[in-house]
Amino acid sequence: MEPRGKTIVVAAPSGAGKTSIVRGLLAQHSFLAFSISATTRKKRPHEVDGKDYHFFTNEQFHAKVENGDFLEYEEVYKNTFYGTLYAEVNKIWAENKHIIFDVDVEGALNIKETFGDNCLNLFIKPPSLYTLYERLKNRNTETEESLQKRITKAEKELKYQTKFDQIVINDKLDVAINDASKIVCEFLKIPS
Ligand code: 5GP
Repeated sequence: MEPRGKTIVVAAPSGAGKTSIVRGLLAQHSFLAFSISATTRKKRPHEVDGKDYHFFTNEQFHAKVENGDFLEYEEVYKNTFYGTLYAEVNKIWAENKHIIFDVDVEGALNIKETFGDNCLNLFIKPPSLYTLYERLKNRNTETEESLQKRITKAEKELKYQTKFDQIVINDKLDVAINDASKIVCEFLKIPS
């Protein structure tokens, strides 16, 4: 796929604060637009279909896979799929905005491979695995089983950090957003 704008990919273990950092970046920079992913996971009570995710059944999701509609997709958790639709990417570029993605580590590396120098790959790191566990527990969105799944995945994901263009440690959220914002502005060659 030929890039028609820049892409910023924010990846991190679940619970590292990635979504808050993405929201912070979107609030500061109107030239960025969020790529709404498709997923087969269940909608959380506060989430809105078509805003947080495009929520699909397994059948709907796999029909789109068969149709070649995805730029990338992953079985992020067993039997739970997430993916980026070409349609989403094209819609944002048509609005002359740069795209910000919130994806898992493998998705981030795939997007980087597709867009190369037009892509900034940002890894958000929790201060420690213990902090991550505490944050996920306090979020109250996970069962003990899904919490364990996320921690196991996080341990694996942390090993990939060296493959990223930049690393931001999320200890204090406002500091992390500012750090990420400076990196994004440098990449886009605009004053911060
Ligand atoms: P959550 O269920 O917490 O919303 O997301 C779980 C994980 O899936 C997160 O790491 C999130 O970034 C990732 N994810 C969300 N959308 C996509 C996507 O389109 N592609 C890939 N590869 N991962 C995604």
